[in-house]
Amino acid sequence: MKTTLQTEITVEDICKGFVYNEYEGRGLFGLSGKLTIQPEFQRNYIYADGKRDVAVIDSLLRGYPLGLIYFNKVNDSHFEVLDGQQRITSFGRFVTNKFAILDENGMHQYFDGLAKDKQEKILNTKLLIYECEGTESQIKEWFKTINIVGIPLNNQELLNAVYSGPFVTLAKEEFSNSLNANVQKWSAYIRGSANRQDFLERALEWVSKGNVGTYMSKHRYDDNINELKNYFNTVIDWVSSVFDDVEREMCGLEWGRMYETYRKNPYDPQKVSQQLRALYADPYVKNRRGVFEYILGGSKDTNLLDIRVFDDATKRIVYNKQTSTAQEQGVSNCSFCAIGHDANKTRVWSLKDMDADHVAAWSKGGATDISNCQMLCKTHNRAKGNR
Ligand SMILES: [Zn+2]
Repeated sequence: MKTTLQTEITVEDICKGFVYNEYEGRGLFGLSGKLTIQPEFQRNYIYADGKRDVAVIDSLLRGYPLGLIYFNKVNDSHFEVLDGQQRITSFGRFVTNKFAILDENGMHQYFDGLAKDKQEKILNTKLLIYECEGTESQIKEWFKTINIVGIPLNNQELLNAVYSGPFVTLAKEEFSNSLNANVQKWSAYIRGSANRQDFLERALEWVSKGNVGTYMSKHRYDDNINELKNYFNTVIDWVSSVFDDVEREMCGLEWGRMYETYRKNPYDPQKVSQQLRALYADPYVKNRRGVFEYILGGSKDTNLLDIRVFDDATKRIVYNKQTSTAQEQGVSNCSFCAIGHDANKTRVWSLKDMDADHVAAWSKGGATDISNCQMLCKTHNRAKGNR
């Protein structure tokens, strides 16, 4: 790959013909039309938080370096931004009066309202730009290894870069567009944001059963995303039809895996809702995120709920009581050992070799208090738990 350092291109040059798409959150073109600011393998613009945008302008006004910018030279009259898209979009938007900064008097100032010398300072700033020439795979391999200034590319953004093509373009239109009316519904079940590719990542993970790279490679040149979209919508529809309730703890669960595991079981949403309410109201259930799979699995695997355990003081009181009674009778302090026929029949276990057990199981309404606590040797406690 060949690289050439350019030091004479100014902010003003780049801002000539700057086009920003407010709806898609993308800086599109600059440098009098010769520069594509957001090629399809780039991530969406994510600086627009009011802080980093302003920090870029502040750096320009103070004469601080903006860092290296990389262009991919497609041909003599066409470049794409490889790295620097966020910074370029920030100053492009400022120069075209899309946002204001606070001046030293605490007043909002748009570019047009700045003193002439400040305007010129920004426009005349020379940028350090590397023009890179190479094959598509060289450029992409390189792109994969650089660390983008400020916010590193996340895994899905890298995959989008590596497998860029019509499939990624269509997939991003559907899943990476924060104005898609479905985003709100998806957000109940999927953690993250559209512009950081979190919905796209989940959709791909679900349809590919975790083999995202393979799937993207196979479908790279597809002209549709029907399978991806249908599968994703099927999972979301399944979750929202089984669970009428939308709880905070549902967000970010492994819905794709649960759909594959439980989709063949019938559920009565009304009954599910009652179970859910009861478990949410149960003070012994420590892990609410496990409630959903617990219900889907037929209310059997209490490990998912992380039922509140007996505290140390309770265990010690029960242990002491059990042990003194057992010693009077000359039997083991584990009631299961005591009724057995092996050498452990008379064995007195130390506290650290025993575990607390719910006499009446929690799932049968047994409470986690001292009246429902017994100490068993570890072997018998484990055996009871597995029944
Ligand atoms: Zn025992």
